Amino acid sequence: MIIFLETLGCSRNQVDSEIMLGKLVAKGHTLTDDPSQARVIIVNTCGFISTASDEAVDVILEMAEFREKGILEKLIVTGCLAQRYKDDKDLISTLPEVDAFLGTGACDYIVDAVENKEIKTLTIFPDPAKRPFQNLSDKRELITQNFAYIKVSEGCNRKCTYCIIPKLRGTQRSRPEDDICREARRLVSKGVQEIILTAENTTDYGQDFKDDTGFEKVLNSLALTLENDPVRIRFLYTHPVTLTRDVILAVKKHKTVCSYYDVPIQHASPKILKKMGRPYTNEDLYGLFKTIREIDPDAALRTTVIVGFPGESEEDFDILTNFIKDIRFDHLGVFIYSDSSDLKSHSLKDHVPSKIAEKRHDMIMAAQAEISLAINENHVDKTLKVLVEENPEPGVFVGRTMFQAPEVDGVTFIYADGLEIGTFVNVRITQCFEYDIAGVIA
Ligand code: SF4
Repeated sequence: MIIFLETLGCSRNQVDSEIMLGKLVAKGHTLTDDPSQARVIIVNTCGFISTASDEAVDVILEMAEFREKGILEKLIVTGCLAQRYKDDKDLISTLPEVDAFLGTGACDYIVDAVENKEIKTLTIFPDPAKRPFQNLSDKRELITQNFAYIKVSEGCNRKCTYCIIPKLRGTQRSRPEDDICREARRLVSKGVQEIILTAENTTDYGQDFKDDTGFEKVLNSLALTLENDPVRIRFLYTHPVTLTRDVILAVKKHKTVCSYYDVPIQHASPKILKKMGRPYTNEDLYGLFKTIREIDPDAALRTTVIVGFPGESEEDFDILTNFIKDIRFDHLGVFIYSDSSDLKSHSLKDHVPSKIAEKRHDMIMAAQAEISLAINENHVDKTLKVLVEENPEPGVFVGRTMFQAPEVDGVTFIYADGLEIGTFVNVRITQCFEYDIAGVIA
């Protein structure tokens, strides 16, 4: 079968897509990146928040049109949207275009779903908490070229009141350290230059082990495994409670590990953090970022916050804005609270009108734009190591420094000719913009 797969959502979903593609290719199916040429289309969905669910339904309906304008025979929906609404009796009736629904624990059944001829609308929803870890003998079909994500664990044991992920992905299960290092080894041998560790909370790694294994252990092993390779190691989605001194010291110890700390704080007002079920205080957060900068002065900081959470007053919002201005993050993601009846936070009082939430979103983004530009101005005249990734037009290449993660942060434009994609070059920064920087070969 000729298969097209569309991946929506987060890096964990991308790894699932690559695993499913690997299984299909291993069974002799071929892949296309043109949906009009596909007999089977798979949409690996996100269902984290309502806007993501809406986008997923739009993409599913768009793909269904290839029955008319393409050669589509089978439409398969996998991932979090399917998992979130698996018990919703309207799921199948609302999407009659779909031939199979697979939950987040069902990646191993993708070949069965593609080759299924009997069942009209196949539904496979094994318990995501029992999903086996990726089998290392399975080949992954990488969707990205120069970097690759590696999951260090599945699921989450935390109970944030606004989050559905534990229900979609199950409880926390940490992957054997050796598996992670072997997979990284294999990806690097395939030409990957940046390994990005991901999970619901990477630094919660080992919390489900009986011994006191922490994330720093897997980070040290991985860095030693790849210490002689021209690669970078990055990790995303840390948790403020488990991003410990030992983890920061491990980052500082290894030159291959990016001094890049992605720490989703979600808010900074003690009252709202409590309502969110986030187990830390405003003081804890100030202390954490102070510790990071004391141990690792080159640290690049990224965070994510939610505005418009039920009960968020002007005073709470001011605490958050002042925190953002005090810490001066290199990168900031701002989400507007997304309500849904299957969330604990739904039953909280004083929901914030969307007009006010949107205004708060725009105000924080405006404050961050100024901070980001000022931080980028500090890079001018510096020489930075850049991973060359694209050549969008003659004389211009695009790459990323150690403080620029893919798909979420700004990039570095390089005015040059004849650079090789997938190599590291030294760039003298000559220009800066709100989110991006630019320069020439040093
Ligand atoms: S820690 Fe993250 S994944 Fe887990 S419940 Fe909270 S927001 Fe969701």
